Amino acid sequence: MNHKIIGIFGGTFNPIHNGHLRLAIELYERLDLAQVRLIPAACPPHKEQPDVTSQQRLQMVQAAITGIQGLTFDDRELQRQGLSYTIDTLSSLRNDYPANPLALIFGMDAFLGLPSWYKWEFIMDFAHIIVVTREQSGCQNITNTMNAFLHKYQTDNPQDLITKTAGKIWLQDIPTLNISATQIRAIIAAGKNPTYLLPPAVLDLINTQQFYK
Ligand code: ATP
Repeated sequence: MNHKIIGIFGGTFNPIHNGHLRLAIELYERLDLAQVRLIPAACPPHKEQPDVTSQQRLQMVQAAITGIQGLTFDDRELQRQGLSYTIDTLSSLRNDYPANPLALIFGMDAFLGLPSWYKWEFIMDFAHIIVVTREQSGCQNITNTMNAFLHKYQTDNPQDLITKTAGKIWLQDIPTLNISATQIRAIIAAGKNPTYLLPPAVLDLINTQQFYK
């Protein structure tokens, strides 16, 4: 592989939906990424254990990205025992790709919650961070800690993401779809129709395996 930026997009993906997928495709194209790796979390430290197994969430991710250029799945968090910490995932990716810039992708909501993550300040040693600012939400409600963090690492020069392999924060304003997995689970549980919120192949899996009923 050449030394383009590898995008790393982690999440519960319970289920993966068009909001996630549009975000990944937009970033792949706009930032000329080598690829975006979608990494389902095994036991997300921040969320309750989902009612669908991690293998089933992975299966939905695989179905969602089939045939989509630039998107790939990565099951390394499911291979590990215990909690999935992002810092461990990054360290393992750095081993696999010593020369590529790595860029962790976050929605602004997830980014602002970073200080509760295990060893969060060390993330910058392994990767850049791309923060997607959704619906011009900008940085309202930003804490002093995150303001200082942004100030220390933010760059306005896209070349920094290519010439360095880690350590910069890039804010990317892109249109995002107002879809959440919570909303989709609620629609299905209520016996309503979630068509167009997620790929047909994922909805097929949900229907045949009776998820979220
Ligand atoms: P839930 O509703 O269960 O909390 P979710 O839809 O927010 O799930 P996650 O798997 O928790 O999905 O999200 C993973 C990442 O995707 C996070 O960084 C989050 O900010 C981002 N994300 C979630 N929904 C969207 C969306 N509609 N558009 C762009 N990014 C999104």
